[in-house]
Amino acid sequence: MTLDTASRVAVGAAVLAMIAVRAPHGQRSRAVAVAKSFRGRAEAALLTVAWISFVVPLVWICGGMPDATARAHSWTLLVSGAVLTAASLVLFHRSHADLAANWSITLEIREGHSLVTSGVYRRIRHPMYAALLLFGAGVALMLPDVAAGPSYLAAMVLLTALRLGPEERMMAATFGDAWTRYAAATKRLVPFLW
Ligand code: SAH
Repeated sequence: MTLDTASRVAVGAAVLAMIAVRAPHGQRSRAVAVAKSFRGRAEAALLTVAWISFVVPLVWICGGMPDATARAHSWTLLVSGAVLTAASLVLFHRSHADLAANWSITLEIREGHSLVTSGVYRRIRHPMYAALLLFGAGVALMLPDVAAGPSYLAAMVLLTALRLGPEERMMAATFGDAWTRYAAATKRLVPFLW
């Protein structure tokens, strides 16, 4: 198999795996009533950007990117990206499993929402965003195009940067002291660091 074909297969598999991990949770969350929504206009814009950036690698797989944006590639970059992406999908799966019915795609508190502080939430407060950032980095390594490669990573950096503050304020307003204690005992994205 050529490096080009292997890269297209790997990026396609990563995107499909991400959809497969998310799908059952998306379906379940539709059945859980929303108690309070904190979804503002910025959230709607962020979700749209995230969706567009998710589709860009698929455009590249189908040969839809201009040659001018192609970059040099190697098996080392592809394999490193594949390993990173696989690890990110494990974390993505674990964070959904730990949040269970408390998960929402946007800033919402569900009926019967409980604060999750165990599993992959034990040391960091945002393992799902950490997984999305790692996934974006993995795709950037696997996909040899300077525009399509880092598009998802760029969207996830934006999402994380703009959402952490509002999300943490929402959790503090909802869970009070329990959130304050949890926040004091954990880091945001990187265990023991930040
Ligand atoms: N920021 C978290 C969760 C992303 S999903 C992460 O990166 O892992 C976003 C939704 O999850 C939020 O709207 C909130 O309803 C819920 N949530 C976030 N942290 C939570 C926690 N520790 N316990 C329960 N629900 C949480």
